Amino acid sequence: MKKLMISACLAGCNCRYDGGNTKLAQLDELQERFELIPVCPETLAGLPCPRHPLEIVGDRVVNNQNEDFTEEFHTGAELAVQLWKESGCPAVLLQSRSPSCGKGLIYDGTFTGRKIAGNGIFTQKLIQEKAEIYSELELEKIKA
Ligand code: SF4
Repeated sequence: MKKLMISACLAGCNCRYDGGNTKLAQLDELQERFELIPVCPETLAGLPCPRHPLEIVGDRVVNNQNEDFTEEFHTGAELAVQLWKESGCPAVLLQSRSPSCGKGLIYDGTFTGRKIAGNGIFTQKLIQEKAEIYSELELEKIKA
């Protein structure tokens, strides 16, 4: 069965900043088609759960208390990329809008809910590695 790396929150892990998850309604169906390998770059970085919400501001990652977590985000993303390489997963399914896993669209750094074009830190590194990436809005494009 083909492997698929997946943002852990999409697989039902309670690793989101608010202590919850974004479990996919189609998770069972996905598990019938793929061996899922969950990964959470922010957990790998050692961030607590729950935690204050974080957004990308320029080339920094800060929380809504203006505390800087840029280094932690890069460390977690690099560890997650390493896991991806070791796992042999051809593709990665990512949670949209996240400052780690967002693909194509992220929050704009003002903590107002506004979104802008951009990618999370993990996603940026996966793109550099030429990984095949999808957001949860593109499930139908993933080939088993
Ligand atoms: S870092 Fe990625 S996997 Fe972890 S909670 Fe955020 S979106 Fe989900």
